[in-house]
Amino acid sequence: MILSMGSTKSRFWNSRVNNLAPYIPGEQPKEQLIKLNTNENPYPPPPDVLHAMSRALNEKLRLYPDPCCTEVREAVARRYSVEENQVFIGNGSDEVLAFAFGAFFESAENSNARPILFPEISYSFYPVFAKLWNLPYTAIPLGREWEIKPEDYVINAGGVVLANPNAPTGISIKARDILDIADFHLAHNKLVLVDEAYADFSDDTILPYINDPLVSRDNILVVRTLSKSYSLAGLRVGFAIGSGALITALESLRDSFNSYTIDRVAQAGAAAALSNTAYYAEITKKIIATRERISKELLKLHFTVLPSSANFIFIKHPVMSGEDFFLGLRKNGILVRHFKHDKIVDFVRVTIGTDKDMDIFLEICSAGIKSAQ
Ligand SMILES: *Cc1c(COP(=O)(O)O)cnc(C)c1O
Repeated sequence: MILSMGSTKSRFWNSRVNNLAPYIPGEQPKEQLIKLNTNENPYPPPPDVLHAMSRALNEKLRLYPDPCCTEVREAVARRYSVEENQVFIGNGSDEVLAFAFGAFFESAENSNARPILFPEISYSFYPVFAKLWNLPYTAIPLGREWEIKPEDYVINAGGVVLANPNAPTGISIKARDILDIADFHLAHNKLVLVDEAYADFSDDTILPYINDPLVSRDNILVVRTLSKSYSLAGLRVGFAIGSGALITALESLRDSFNSYTIDRVAQAGAAAALSNTAYYAEITKKIIATRERISKELLKLHFTVLPSSANFIFIKHPVMSGEDFFLGLRKNGILVRHFKHDKIVDFVRVTIGTDKDMDIFLEICSAGIKSAQ
């Protein structure tokens, strides 16, 4: 590889590449660390999912995979009580989001384009996608308690993107609030994209309202992932649920780019995972219980802990800066995520791990991170 991260610009780069501002993924460390930095699930995928993938490792790998991901779409449709033509499968929900930004929002070259709206503190991929597709956008500040204020999104705009629960705060808003935002934008023919990456850890999802027989909700696209609650971050599978017409747009964008985004093994694993509700209900319950326990303990240690509906907590040390706390944890073998954005620079985001890992984390927090002093 000639060009690597950090290389200077080259005269062969076009203006598109020169203008990119790529997302920086959380570190995948080489050393042995307790890894609480990228919201992966601490529990393994169940054996039936691994077996389904082993069975897919056969001579058929010489053949292209099913471009329609029929088996996976059927499994999503069954699991979430929607029609198969309402489901789009992507190579991680990041890809689904990238296609959705490209398919449903107007670019700045169009003089009628209004800015799309998303929270100033949210998934840091949203401004990256907006820049990639040259979409005008407005980043809306959160409220005083770090909450999304639904009324801020009920204004004329090019569309809305919300993560619910939000990341990295972990705070969710009610389905009713999102439906109100969507109803307003429906009247203006604008899309509301709801990123429900963490919805399995919360009580708030709008999926049950998508097919309301009394109200048309064909301007809502919900995006989900198998990376967090399904323990399959390594497989790269995400999906979108929305009206058939929205799904067709995502398919045309995908097929203008790469028709085979999900390989045979991933399709087998994803279909099996989506069909196993019992195991995932159990590990999700466990993660939520650990989250609640650790949040309480940290409050006792005078940390600021935002009320999380996700598989992570967003916390502020009572005296240390976010960066020092992050570095102190790292010296003690624990990797968490620290964001440089000024408004949240005092916080770190901590993925909920196993009870054992979280007890080690708690112990270091209560010892005041000695080796960092
Ligand atoms: C993790 C995450 C995703 C991306 O998930 P992948 O399916 O692994 O690409 C999307 N949105 C949010 C808010 C996330 O935190």
